[in-house]
Amino acid sequence: MPGTSHLHSYALSLGSNRPLSADRPPARLLREVTDRLAEIGRTRCASPLFTTPPLGPSRRLFTNGALLLETALPPEELLRELQKIERIMGRRRFRRWGARTMDIDIILWSGGRWESPRLSIPHRAFRTRGFVLKPLLGIVPKWRDPRSGLTVRHLHGRLMKARTKDAARG
Ligand code: ATP
Ligand code: CA
Ligand code: CA
Repeated sequence: MPGTSHLHSYALSLGSNRPLSADRPPARLLREVTDRLAEIGRTRCASPLFTTPPLGPSRRLFTNGALLLETALPPEELLRELQKIERIMGRRRFRRWGARTMDIDIILWSGGRWESPRLSIPHRAFRTRGFVLKPLLGIVPKWRDPRSGLTVRHLHGRLMKARTKDAARG
């Protein structure tokens, strides 16, 4: 790795709801991804893994996690590397939000905002996704969303409160 003066920090969200084979279930695939990410940067902090119900048409449970990656790679180059890892981990184009062996999203980074046709940071949907915010809470609770100015802890708390209200309304 080059010198540490130009390192960026990225908060990544990982998810899988499809085994690659009988002996490589989602939780194992997430650990394998963490090992691969260690080859392109330094993985500083990994969340525990959570099992969450799926979004959209797939009925398989998701295993989700998050980690903090320090690397010299700028955002678009990192995205390319992440997509390479997704392919190695057996990711194919199924339906959107359908079953997939691996999904790696860039949620936040130390550079604030990034907007291009291929990549938006912060990730557009992360503020309303418990399965993204919950693992993030364990690793970067104080990071701020540059759009709303709110911390990860605040966003997570707000989402949980909204859900409690929804449940109370029945
Ligand atoms: P969602 O983005 O709603 O979580 P998804 O992860 O299933 O859906 P993908 O099919 O994995 O969507 O990705 C579609 C495209 O999203 C990618 O090809 C990539 O160019 C783009 N993209 C934009 N912003 C991001 C980001 N922050 N992290 C990862 N991919 C992103
Ligand atoms: Ca995603
Ligand atoms: Ca994705």
